[in-house]
Amino acid sequence: ALHVRSIRKSFANQEVLRGIDLDVHEGEFLTLLGPSGSGKTTLLRIIAGFESHDSGEMRLQGNDISRLSPAQRDLGMVFQQYALFPHMTVADNVAYGLKMRRWDSAKLRARVEQMLEMVGLPHLADRKPRQLSGGQQQRVALARALAYEPKLLLMDEPLGALDKNLRLQMEEELRRVHRQLGTTVIYVTHDQEEALALSDRIAVMQEGRFAGLDTPTALYQRPPSTFVARFFSNAN
Ligand code: ATP
Repeated sequence: ALHVRSIRKSFANQEVLRGIDLDVHEGEFLTLLGPSGSGKTTLLRIIAGFESHDSGEMRLQGNDISRLSPAQRDLGMVFQQYALFPHMTVADNVAYGLKMRRWDSAKLRARVEQMLEMVGLPHLADRKPRQLSGGQQQRVALARALAYEPKLLLMDEPLGALDKNLRLQMEEELRRVHRQLGTTVIYVTHDQEEALALSDRIAVMQEGRFAGLDTPTALYQRPPSTFVARFFSNAN
């Protein structure tokens, strides 16, 4: 679905991405895992179109997306910085992307209901975001991102703000939603356990490069480097 070739990016004189190649398959859940500062968020922001890259190519379903604005790329996003719209109800938040795409109102209402059902919050449709818990807000953000069935869903530490119990609950939720909709996902985390629990494949980032890219089992059992081995041994 997504093909990334030789992406490079520097800030001032620091090279943050040093030639990234990545193929994300249709329906795959791929996680970017790595320590703080390794370049995960920068790569995701470049794919989303919030950040420019210095060189390299990006194709989504065959189309060059490098010069498209974030809105034109038509991706689903769950970023900490991309919060819910505070003045809108939960239902209106979920409906937002559908309205932009001019869904007719009956179809739109049914879709919003279905999405809130899916994340277990149909009873909170008329609340404002500030009347929800952090976990509930995360669920609404997920429903909003998935409502129009994006070709690609980008998530940057979406569970970062949650306590352990809620995290586990949301991990289960994410797995279920991913199975149900078959959306292609790129997920960023620095949490090994989370990556192991969720991913079809994991790209381990080390200083702007991939130190390993494989299934969780393969990386865990046959780590390609001591960096990867050490990273996974911390998980247990
Ligand atoms: P974390 O897990 O802490 O979010 P990360 O792996 O997502 O880390 P990035 O946020 O991609 O890492 O940052 C990679 C490097 O690029 C860091 O050294 C960071 O300081 C630097 N960097 C990121 N954005 C900018 C910017 N706008 N200007 C200058 N430097 C930046």
